[in-house]
Amino acid sequence: MKTAHKYRAYPSKEELEILNRQMFLSKELYNLLLEKSKEYYKNTKKTLTQYRMNVWLTQIKKESPEFNEIYSQALQNVSKRISDAYKSFFRRCKEKKLGKKIQAGFPRHKKFVSSLTYPQSGFKIERKRVELSKIGRINFVNHRDIEDKIKTCSIKKTKSDEWYITFSVEKEDKPFVSNGKEKIGLDLGLTDYATLSNGQKIENPRILNKHIKRLKRKQRKISSKVKGSQNRKKAVKRFARYSEHISRIREDSLHKLSYVLVHSYSFIAHENLQIQNMQKNHRYARSIGDASWGTLISFAHYKAGSAGCETVGVNPRDSTQECSRCHNIKKGSEKLTLTDRLYHCNNCGLTMGRDENSGIVIKKRGLDKSIPTTSGQGESHAFGDIVRPQLQEADVGELGTIRGVSR
Ligand SMILES: [Zn+2]
Repeated sequence: MKTAHKYRAYPSKEELEILNRQMFLSKELYNLLLEKSKEYYKNTKKTLTQYRMNVWLTQIKKESPEFNEIYSQALQNVSKRISDAYKSFFRRCKEKKLGKKIQAGFPRHKKFVSSLTYPQSGFKIERKRVELSKIGRINFVNHRDIEDKIKTCSIKKTKSDEWYITFSVEKEDKPFVSNGKEKIGLDLGLTDYATLSNGQKIENPRILNKHIKRLKRKQRKISSKVKGSQNRKKAVKRFARYSEHISRIREDSLHKLSYVLVHSYSFIAHENLQIQNMQKNHRYARSIGDASWGTLISFAHYKAGSAGCETVGVNPRDSTQECSRCHNIKKGSEKLTLTDRLYHCNNCGLTMGRDENSGIVIKKRGLDKSIPTTSGQGESHAFGDIVRPQLQEADVGELGTIRGVSR
């Protein structure tokens, strides 16, 4: 499994100059190659190969020796970015033909490039520094050692001029050993951030709400400044810095929450998310973006294996309308609306909290898809017959609290 480790970096003044220069050159190269590939496609109607790109690259380097300032493999990565852009363009065209409502924009010229990638070699980690070939030895905050095999190294500048080094690593697949704990389903909602099939609720962090006023003020400041002025640039930077600050807090809290979840349960079923569709409903757009379930789910997936937890995504269709006991599905005027907080089944008489009900439905759907495990004692508990782990506020930190709800 591929995963990434990200660290804050502090390039020196000289290194900054080199980095900015190399990113400028990367942008130039990107646009040059894009132009060539467009022409090539127009004349030959052939798809572009990586080989063809590398031939051009050699040519370009001969004509414009300044590109030799960049490490050769980092240069090749620029051409890979173009073939990736084409690949995703063709994939989106195909999806569009199949009826998906998306736009398939042709790869476009770049105004700037904000990262450099060393795909295999050319970098070396020392204790608090990473040596990047043709750039220098850059200081970074090495807060966590990497044990797995490092595949690539990237250095990236954010919009507010902060620098980050990211190492992508290949994690070894270890045999799965279940932690034997309770199995749950996770219902993601707007009133509560999530409701577990055992009735526990995770409160909506609404982190953005706390900061939205300040963020909006910073945004207004931008529009009050003259376009193109230094003051406007400064205001843009302040705004970017603040939004990055907020997303860091959010990411951090999602890391903590996902950690708690995968260590408290042996099995987590969740809805397969289609956030993009949901965000079309504008009224909720901000709180959905803020809740960022997608990130939570992907963090949980990543942490699950080594914590002895299995995560399964299920089709969320009608999960709110289905009875968790008799599987009757409400139709027509019977259907629950957004404001109905209770589920009452007219078929079998079950009455329970709406989110908890759909949490159980999701759990059952997940268990149907689950791979049978040989280890752990957590086989098919009827829910409720084991001691529930009570998650503490302190465990979850910024993300609000998980509170137990008696049934
Ligand atoms: Zn029922």
